[in-house]
Amino acid sequence: MNTNYLDNLKILYSRQEIEVAVARLAAEITREYQARNPLILGVLKGSFVFMSDLVRRLDFSLETDFVQLSSYSRGTSSAGKIKMVQDIKATVKGRDVLVVEDIVDTGKSLAFLADYLQKKNPESLRFCCLLDKPSRRQVPVTVHYRGFTVPDKFVVGYGMDYAEQYRNLPDIYILSDDKK
Ligand code: 5GP
Ligand code: MG
Repeated sequence: MNTNYLDNLKILYSRQEIEVAVARLAAEITREYQARNPLILGVLKGSFVFMSDLVRRLDFSLETDFVQLSSYSRGTSSAGKIKMVQDIKATVKGRDVLVVEDIVDTGKSLAFLADYLQKKNPESLRFCCLLDKPSRRQVPVTVHYRGFTVPDKFVVGYGMDYAEQYRNLPDIYILSDDKK
């Protein structure tokens, strides 16, 4: 890495715009979940920054857990088949589960997770994603809480990576094609 590691990045959403979106989502989620002691389930690694900002705005009783799925290994094209890399530890049966994702792209990851979690008989199951790229959808999924709808561009920052880089950036950027 060198000091020019931000070259080829174009700002998409500033930290201020992200903060407004996260606050709006937290208000929506609070209305639905404040009396339900939900299980807030983050999908690693991409959701870790969004998840931490979101849960700190949820001022009621809740539980957190994480799963990790394999999807994009290195680079920007989907590996295809989804696998569970780190399984859920919390009890799902009878719980109101809210899955927190960084971005929904083809929908394969969320479809996999929906199927996986439904088999564990939650009381309810919903999905919250910061970014949604509907133009790329291959599998239909219902996103209940959405921060932004984004164009078909590869984005990084605010937890999202390219080859494990850029997760630390506080803003969200479009990675230009010549960088991939
Ligand atoms: P899907 O299974 O919906 O195709 O993709 C799910 C995962 O792929 C997302 O949760 C995210 O981790 C990764 N992904 C999809 N699009 C992008 C993108 O534009 N940038 C980054 N950094 N990751 C993405
Ligand atoms: Mg993700």
